[in-house]
Amino acid sequence: MKKVYFNLNFDDLHPETSNHISDSGGDKEKGVLRWVLKLKEEFPKLKITFYATPNWRYYSGFNGIKYYLRKFLKMKTVKVWEDEPFRLDKHKDWVKWLNKQKFEIAIHGLYHFQEENPQGAEFTSLNYAECIFRLKTAIKIMKNAKLKFVMGFRPPGWGFNNNLLNSLKDLNFKFIGISADVITPITKNALVKETGFKNVSLLEPSLVNNLINIPQNWDVIKNDYKRMEEIAENNGVISAKGHVFRNYGNDFNENGLCEKVYENIRESLNKLLENYNVKFVTNSFIAEKWRKKLRK
Ligand SMILES: [Zn+2]
Repeated sequence: MKKVYFNLNFDDLHPETSNHISDSGGDKEKGVLRWVLKLKEEFPKLKITFYATPNWRYYSGFNGIKYYLRKFLKMKTVKVWEDEPFRLDKHKDWVKWLNKQKFEIAIHGLYHFQEENPQGAEFTSLNYAECIFRLKTAIKIMKNAKLKFVMGFRPPGWGFNNNLLNSLKDLNFKFIGISADVITPITKNALVKETGFKNVSLLEPSLVNNLINIPQNWDVIKNDYKRMEEIAENNGVISAKGHVFRNYGNDFNENGLCEKVYENIRESLNKLLENYNVKFVTNSFIAEKWRKKLRK
């Protein structure tokens, strides 16, 4: 049987519970994370990666007429958690629980927030010094919280610039995820659309600014087994992506954790296991392997 690497990953993990805006992992096994725990039960070797935000500040914004009125009046169009309720080092019990689950945890910004639109794209307009400061602060909070993590980074809201990429390189990050493309048809030399970089492979990791970029190429709700098969047939790495929450105030992620997402992953994975020699891997494993390959 043909071999294929598989990783499942989710964005926006932080200790917020359903007593706030939305359960973002804070409700542990009683909340949305029960769906990944169920998957772990069924596929014990499955490797799951979470991109966690160390000090989540982004809060649901205003919408409709209120949004435009506030914009016109030059008022803030988004609310922000000012008192840092979700700073990881304030949630040591949650971190302890999380460490026990043996997920791979990588970094997803510091606040997941910027003042300008789009507000989730924290890093879009930061200079080099600001990027370095935020990344170092993010690392410091993770360490203070005693959260086990790896040096991988996915920019919040897909907002990145060269300052961010240079900062990640200078701080020795092992991998990044700057490209999600779950629409472009899978072909032998398929490239990711709209990264601003040339030749970013949709099938396997490639070097972007000398960093290993792991492309997300399979969506946990929009795609089905067929796309997995196409990736496997073209010797690609299946990087299945979703979000922790579906609804966050006025924001909606179609691929947030729920029963439908769970069923889709379960069904597709079972078919994949019937037809391929599936190797469940972490992003760190993929990065290490491709670093050697690409440096040759
Ligand atoms: Zn995010």
